[in-house]
Amino acid sequence: MRCVSVPSGLRLLARITDDSEAAVSDVPDTPEAPSRDFRRLGPRAAPTHPLALVPAVGPERTVDAFVREYLEELNFSQGAPLARSTVNHQYLALARTVRSYLMADWLETAARRREQPTKMVGYLSAEYLLGRQLDNALLNSDLAEIVEQAMAALGLDLNELRAQEVEPGLGNGGLGRLAACFVDSLATMDVSCIGFGIRYEYGIFTQVFTPDGRQVEAPDNWLALGAPWEFPNPDRAVRVSFGGHTETYADDSGRERRRWVPGWSVRGIPYNYMVPGYRNGVANTLRLWSAEATSAFDLETFNSGDYVDAVRAQTFAQNISKVLYPEDSTPQGRELRLQQQYFFVACSINDYLHGTLSKDFDLTRLPEQIIFQLNDTHPVIAIPELMRILLDEHGMNWDQAWAITSRCFAYTCHTLLPEALEVWPADLVGRLLPRHLEIIYGINDQFLDLVRATYPGDELRVRAMSIVAEAPFKGIRMAHLAAVAATKVNGVAELHSTLLREKVLVDFARLWPEKFTNVTNGVTPRRFVRMANRPLADLITSTIGDGWVRDLEKLRELEPYADDAAFREAFRAAKRANKERLAGIALRTGDLVLPTDHLFDVMVKRLHEYKRQLLKLLHIVTTYESIISGEVTPEQVTPRVVIFGAKAAPGYRMAKEIIHLINRVAAVVNADERVCGRLQVVFPANYNVTLAERIIPAADLSEQISLAGKEASGTGNMKLALNGALTIGTDDGANVEIRRLVGDENFFLFGLTEPEVADLQRQGYSPGSYFESNPTLRRAIGLIASGHFTDGDRSVVGPIVGDLLANDRYLVLADFQSYLDAQARVDAAYGDQDAWSRSAILNVARCGFFSSDRAMRDYIDRIWGAEVRR
Ligand SMILES: *Cc1c(COP(=O)(O)O)cnc(C)c1O
Repeated sequence: MRCVSVPSGLRLLARITDDSEAAVSDVPDTPEAPSRDFRRLGPRAAPTHPLALVPAVGPERTVDAFVREYLEELNFSQGAPLARSTVNHQYLALARTVRSYLMADWLETAARRREQPTKMVGYLSAEYLLGRQLDNALLNSDLAEIVEQAMAALGLDLNELRAQEVEPGLGNGGLGRLAACFVDSLATMDVSCIGFGIRYEYGIFTQVFTPDGRQVEAPDNWLALGAPWEFPNPDRAVRVSFGGHTETYADDSGRERRRWVPGWSVRGIPYNYMVPGYRNGVANTLRLWSAEATSAFDLETFNSGDYVDAVRAQTFAQNISKVLYPEDSTPQGRELRLQQQYFFVACSINDYLHGTLSKDFDLTRLPEQIIFQLNDTHPVIAIPELMRILLDEHGMNWDQAWAITSRCFAYTCHTLLPEALEVWPADLVGRLLPRHLEIIYGINDQFLDLVRATYPGDELRVRAMSIVAEAPFKGIRMAHLAAVAATKVNGVAELHSTLLREKVLVDFARLWPEKFTNVTNGVTPRRFVRMANRPLADLITSTIGDGWVRDLEKLRELEPYADDAAFREAFRAAKRANKERLAGIALRTGDLVLPTDHLFDVMVKRLHEYKRQLLKLLHIVTTYESIISGEVTPEQVTPRVVIFGAKAAPGYRMAKEIIHLINRVAAVVNADERVCGRLQVVFPANYNVTLAERIIPAADLSEQISLAGKEASGTGNMKLALNGALTIGTDDGANVEIRRLVGDENFFLFGLTEPEVADLQRQGYSPGSYFESNPTLRRAIGLIASGHFTDGDRSVVGPIVGDLLANDRYLVLADFQSYLDAQARVDAAYGDQDAWSRSAILNVARCGFFSSDRAMRDYIDRIWGAEVRR
């Protein structure tokens, strides 16, 4: 295998064959560059100054001290005296001052973990959808009151400073937000964990709508105004190689071995972020890698006069961490994406082996020290990377290396959609990572031997289980590689884990039943209740104390208050306050008046056909049509404000058409006087964590209407229920568990079940028959098709209507009537406000299970082992 892949015109990147005995080299990049041997802290003289001998302590926690620290930061770090400072200066100074208060915890936590090492969790995730940091830091460090007083005393508007923060949108949606919730919970539980990921220079795009209502993507330049929460650490840069070829050679003892002779390499620079636990003095680390060019091999090029070329090469390397791929659940097999994946796991594993473990550590004991949790298939290339290090760099034989590697990883599957399971073309892997491809083939050969021995003569099964797919192209099935190598494989909700076992990975579950487990997802109650919903949080705390923030099952103590009229009234007042806050934002940003006594009906999540925003839209159009046709008077409908939030992947045509249609329907419905404002549709652009924190607390109704068997878990459903919204939903993902916990009478169930869906599709689903037999459906689709919402232009709606009637892959029409019936039950229930509040309170009281703290306990109990606890 000798295939060098180097972009043309970038010769200098290829010129590293002389020091390439190790792909992740231990050689300093340049004579001037700091040594990569970052464990060496000395030699240095003993300090004599008395201050150097005093342990560092953080600043005092008083308003005066905070003001002093803040002004110091503003004046001497930002270089901006208060009177001449901009809002951005003021925000940056605030963030950095708060950060300095957290620093003592971070140092102390790190020192404690060094002194009393426990097994560590290395959470490997290509995405972290963090949300804004300031309020989270204030809450967890219990500095909010001091900061409020300090800012007021300086004449600064804290809310204005808050609004200045650009959230790090380093994820697409649920999967990235889950990773952020998990690291938050692990810090709160004082579990030793490093979250490893990528510091994308551009995170998830900023969504804007054209006047016509189409989505346009603007780059998310989140670093432009400064990144006050991060600590770059170039001293701990790691080298990562790509390309080249492999070769056989004889080692010192004459043994024949394989090695990788890479073609080019880049440097990974770690950027550390603190992950503070909730008021426990703990701060863990999130380590995000940024790619830079190496420079060790540039001298020759610089000498030959190609100075500008040499500098340009820097850009090539930086491309690797330049931008987050905006596809959610539908990966594109792009070379740069594989580069990103390998880049960050290679950095992370190397950083752990060479930066955290001591030099003389006995690697056979590695599985006692670390468990790498693979968040979906994106980091699965870490498996052959660890094998490569053990085989090629530490000279182990295959069985030794496999015995270690096969105990160091656990894999979380996040999907049921076949198109979401990554399959990398083998020739691409071979070109980019030739040694890894050999190792993957080695793992597969050994695995298929086992399959053949277990099921003699069953070549069909061998082909189905193989890590290497032969058709439609030769490809590496990353989920199979993960299932083979991982100690545990988990799904993210009970139904999802069952379907994994029975369908997606059925052969693996039969072979290794004990490998498969479930951990139902969770969300952090700190960000999504305590921070986002102060009115409700304060009511809960004044009723049952504040223990719930750390132990969410305590919400159970609210159950009796569901029957307490005064509590119900207070609960409604909290909901009203949240609705008013959202209405204020809508008025300021969209010039919309949202009546807060109307039912706030919320569907916020990525736009995907399987999530069925179209079903929600058909309900809106049905209600609208029934009013304008005179079938009902406006007074007869339950007044609703329907709130959408959704980004579509830029290349996902149908999803973008649906966004366009929602906006067109919204414009027409909102402007039609016949509706008398009793139906409004609002679709604020750019749904992100910050917007989620505003919308979710204001929701009365939570739309979780995916086709049964398609949503792995959902976490938006949990956030909404915990904020006192009632769910209208299918029997899908974690909805199943929400309904079981809150009770049928407090949940609006509709739609086909997963087995019914499977049956219907087996028989051959025909959407046309539903259309023909349902006059309400015909009228709604007819109104859309007529161009009523698109100025008479039918070509705009053609693709959507055409696809619904011809294919309807996600059975929107089959579930339509059932959905309408459930919405009628919602209307009836909302008419009795006391009964509604009772249900909403019970939703809050009974959903403590969905804390990500509980999810982390389950990972410890079922996957990581108790050794990760101190
Ligand atoms: C929670 C969350 C999601 C996930 O929502 P689902 O309804 O589970 O798909 C996506 N985006 C953001 C910003 C979130 O906060």
